[in-house]
Amino acid sequence: MHEISVLKKAVDLAEQTAIDNGVARIAYITLEVGELTGYLPVFFYKYFPVVTENKPIFEKAELKIIVDAGEALCKDCEAMYNVMRNQGVCPNCGSRRKDILGGQDFLLKEIGAVADEK
Ligand SMILES: [Zn+2]
Repeated sequence: MHEISVLKKAVDLAEQTAIDNGVARIAYITLEVGELTGYLPVFFYKYFPVVTENKPIFEKAELKIIVDAGEALCKDCEAMYNVMRNQGVCPNCGSRRKDILGGQDFLLKEIGAVADEK
């Protein structure tokens, strides 16, 4: 259950970035979650209200998550495949030797500001 601590870091970073840029309220934040990080988006959605509870800048803010697919390139036959769906085994030749191409990152991708109400 590491989701809550990484989510907390992302929320703190978003808050600081918003303050630095003169943003009064955040409309949404977008997280990019790699499939291979082992983080489950369902927990981010669950903890988001908890983590942002005492932060007025996040009032009514929405959490958006983009899942980055865990792709690999087989070192033996050069097929590209999804690591999760194939349990890390090349569906073309059965090899486990591979280069991971994506899906290992967790990052704060975007911060949406609430437009000034004038
Ligand atoms: Zn292969």
